[in-house]
Amino acid sequence: MTDRDPVGFLGREVAELVAADLDWKLRVLGGPSTPRCTVDGRPVLMFCSNNYLGLSNHPRLKEAAIAAVRSHGVGSGSVRPIAGTMDLHMELERRLARFKGAPASLVYQTGFAANAGLLPQLVGEGDLVVSDELNHGSIIDGVRLSRAERAVYRHADPADLARALATAEEHAPAFRRILVVTDGVFSMDGDIAPLDRIAAVAHDHGAMVYVDDAHGEGVLGDGGRGIVSHYHLTHDRVHVEMGTFSKAFGVVGGHVSGSPELVQFAYNKSRTWLLSGSHPPAVVAACIAAVDVLEQEPQHVARLWALTRRFKQAMVGLGFDTGASATPITPVIVGESATAKRMSERLLELGVFALPIVFPMVAKGKARIRTIMNAALTDDDVGAAIAAFETAGRELGLI
Ligand SMILES: *Cc1c(COP(=O)(O)O)cnc(C)c1O
Repeated sequence: MTDRDPVGFLGREVAELVAADLDWKLRVLGGPSTPRCTVDGRPVLMFCSNNYLGLSNHPRLKEAAIAAVRSHGVGSGSVRPIAGTMDLHMELERRLARFKGAPASLVYQTGFAANAGLLPQLVGEGDLVVSDELNHGSIIDGVRLSRAERAVYRHADPADLARALATAEEHAPAFRRILVVTDGVFSMDGDIAPLDRIAAVAHDHGAMVYVDDAHGEGVLGDGGRGIVSHYHLTHDRVHVEMGTFSKAFGVVGGHVSGSPELVQFAYNKSRTWLLSGSHPPAVVAACIAAVDVLEQEPQHVARLWALTRRFKQAMVGLGFDTGASATPITPVIVGESATAKRMSERLLELGVFALPIVFPMVAKGKARIRTIMNAALTDDDVGAAIAAFETAGRELGLI
C-alpha cells in the first residue's frame, strides 16, 4: 500500500496553469464559422479563424459533402491500406496533384498526422535535420520521433542555414541524409520563408527540402497554389510540399506533394497513415470541391488580398506595429501579455473576435493580437473592425 495519489498531478498542474493565466479558456461558436458569427452568445466579426477564403461554408463544398454521405455513407470503414481507400480518396489525390502542379500527392487525416508520420521516416539515426527556429510544433514533434541529429538555424535566414549545414558536416561528415525543413508562412508573424534561397543552400549541400505550407495554400502563388508556386520552384528542388485542408481549403486533412517515389515511400512507411482510419466520404468530397472552387473561382483569393492590404494599411496608419507580416495574418503587436489579453477582451465587447498570442507562444514583450483576414467579410465589416481596433488601441494608450 502506498498513499501516493496516482492522478493528483492533474489537478495540481491545471491549478498552476490557471494561476498563471496560461490555461485555454475556450470560446464557443454558436453555429457555423462564418465572418459574422456568434461567440459565447455574442454576435462578432471573425478575425481569427484559418478559414481564409470562407470555403467552410461555401455551398459547393456543403452540397458535395451531403451528396457523398448519400452515395458513400458516413465512414470509410478502415485504414487506407486495408479497406479504407475509396474511389473518392484516389480522386482527391489526383485532383490535388494537378492543382499543385506536382507529379503526385498523398492525403493524410490531418496536417499534424502528415508531419508526425512522414518526417521520422525521411530521416533517422545517422541523418541530420536542420530546422528553422520558429517551425510549427507538429514539425518539432515529427523530428523528435526520428533519431536524427538536429540543428536549428536562425529564423528565415538562409546564410545561417548555410552555417548550420557547414558546422554539422564538419563535425560528422558522414551523414547518410540531410533534411532542411521550414514552415512556408509563419503563423505567429505572417512572414514568408525565403524558400527560393533556402532551396538553393540545401541543393549546395545535397539536402532534401521539406516545406510545411499550411498557411500558404489558398493564399500565396498562382490562384492560391501555395509557396512552391509563389517562388516558381519545382518539386525536384522542393522535394516535399506539405499542407493541410483545415485552413484555406475550409475542411480538414493533411497532404504531401512531390515525386511518385515520395508518395509511394510515404504511404508505405508513415505510421499515422497506415494505422489510423481514413477520412469519411463527406470530408473527401468537400476537399475535392474545395480544389474545384480554387481552380474555378479565383475571386476569393483576390478578395482576400484586397481586404488584407486595406486592413494592414489602416493598422499602420493608426500607428500600430504589425511586424514583418507579408500575408493575411496580421499581428498587432502590443507588448505585454496582460495588455494583449485586455485588448482582446475589449475587442470582443466591440464585436471583433481576435485572440491574444502571448509568451511562451511568442517572445516576452512581443504579445500581440493575431488577426487573420477572411475573404467573406464585407467592406463594412472590415471598416467596423478597424474602428474597433482604433477605439481599443486609444483606450489602452497604444496609439
Ligand atoms: C495548422 C498547422 C499544421 C497542422 O495542420 P492540421 O491539418 O490542422 O493538423 C501544421 N503545420 C502548420 C504550419 C500549421 O499551421
